Amino acid sequence: MPNRTPVPPTTFSRRRLAGVARGALMMGALLAAAMAATSARAETVLVTADHLVDVLAGKVVEHPAALIVDGRITAVGAQGAVAAPADARTVALPGLTLLPGLIDMHTHLTSQPTWNGYESLGVSVADKAIAGVANAKLTLMAGFTAVRNVGADGFTDVALRNAIDSGLVPGPRMKVSGPLLGATGGHCDENLLPADYGRVGEGVADSPWGMVQKVRWVKKFGADLVKVCATGGVLSKGDSPGAQQLTQEELDAIAKEAHALGMKVAAHAHGTEGIKASIRAGIDTIEHASLIDDEGIEMAKKRGTWLGMDIYDDDYILQEGAKAGMLPESLEKERKIGLLQRQNFTKAVKAGAKMIFSTDAGVYPHGDNGKQFAKMVQWGMTPMEAIRAATRNAAEAMGTDHDIGAVAVGRYGDLVAVKGDPLADIALLEHIPVVIKGGEIVKDQR
Ligand SMILES: [Zn+2]
Repeated sequence: MPNRTPVPPTTFSRRRLAGVARGALMMGALLAAAMAATSARAETVLVTADHLVDVLAGKVVEHPAALIVDGRITAVGAQGAVAAPADARTVALPGLTLLPGLIDMHTHLTSQPTWNGYESLGVSVADKAIAGVANAKLTLMAGFTAVRNVGADGFTDVALRNAIDSGLVPGPRMKVSGPLLGATGGHCDENLLPADYGRVGEGVADSPWGMVQKVRWVKKFGADLVKVCATGGVLSKGDSPGAQQLTQEELDAIAKEAHALGMKVAAHAHGTEGIKASIRAGIDTIEHASLIDDEGIEMAKKRGTWLGMDIYDDDYILQEGAKAGMLPESLEKERKIGLLQRQNFTKAVKAGAKMIFSTDAGVYPHGDNGKQFAKMVQWGMTPMEAIRAATRNAAEAMGTDHDIGAVAVGRYGDLVAVKGDPLADIALLEHIPVVIKGGEIVKDQR
């Protein structure tokens, strides 16, 4: 796989806890000794169930057990074959099927589905940060133990990621992009007001060197990856989803600088030519990919580029968009590309392109992420392929497959459980009753 740059682990809490422990030493020997005693005792959890979807082997394991020590999986196998220490806490889930915690590769946790069109101008960065706290919890409770957040104003996603990692608020593990990079007047600019107001999107630049500066700027303020708008979009004013909005030179510069800094790049790209230019630039994931043609699919396969096609959105935008304040032109654009995107999804799946689970959560209500699974199966994937897109593949595309994406030794103890067989009924993933993050049960509604 090209551009595999090691990414540091998602969780920073261990380092922060170590810092706290150091401070305590100065506060007094007694307190320090007590803390050391607590941190030395490993938290061991044994999870058992009736079945486990093994996304690495592509099969179901009967009567599985997973041992989780201090948040990471140390053993997986059949019950009886996994030895647990006497003081291990057991989480028995009879009648349930375990899966790895799900991963959505395209969320906007600090956005609300009602913040559309001119309504969005009244929303502050503080409003967005607070919405992010609520939406992070909704997303985790829906079974998504990790997300890639691709676009947030004011670095609200960086603050949210840090608050989750330090244990301040509940939420999924996050990889974040910070503000979106894009061209003047493009999908990621602010296009609602006349020139008098002087509004410009935070990530707007118009040359390769301007884009290099923006990449360094998001890195400086805590982004894990770069999100760039390579073509027009549906919910933006005055542009066309099919039109390429950045030159090949600009896209090349973004990918080269981001990769040099150890960051992956996600490109918003609906249009045929913008998709190809992004693939040529070496961008890691193509978001939407609505108008991808056969040549684009072949290029993606050859280059190892991942496609994240948000095929649930179309239903939501057409049914709820007008009520949610989306611009009339946005609804018109969706009517033109929604069906084509689904048909091209089928083509890409048939051709064997590398697919990830990307939903654009925030366009539709957070927590409904799982509704895309049934669409992916309806439009050509097997249930196992759809589950892999949201687990194994997502982790690989983010460069975090040492941490998440499978119930496997060394990875975080992030699991979900459903009643019944998700390979027979993929819609079970729309209502997940049990969620475990880092070995801790965060939801149990069996
Ligand atoms: Zn998006």
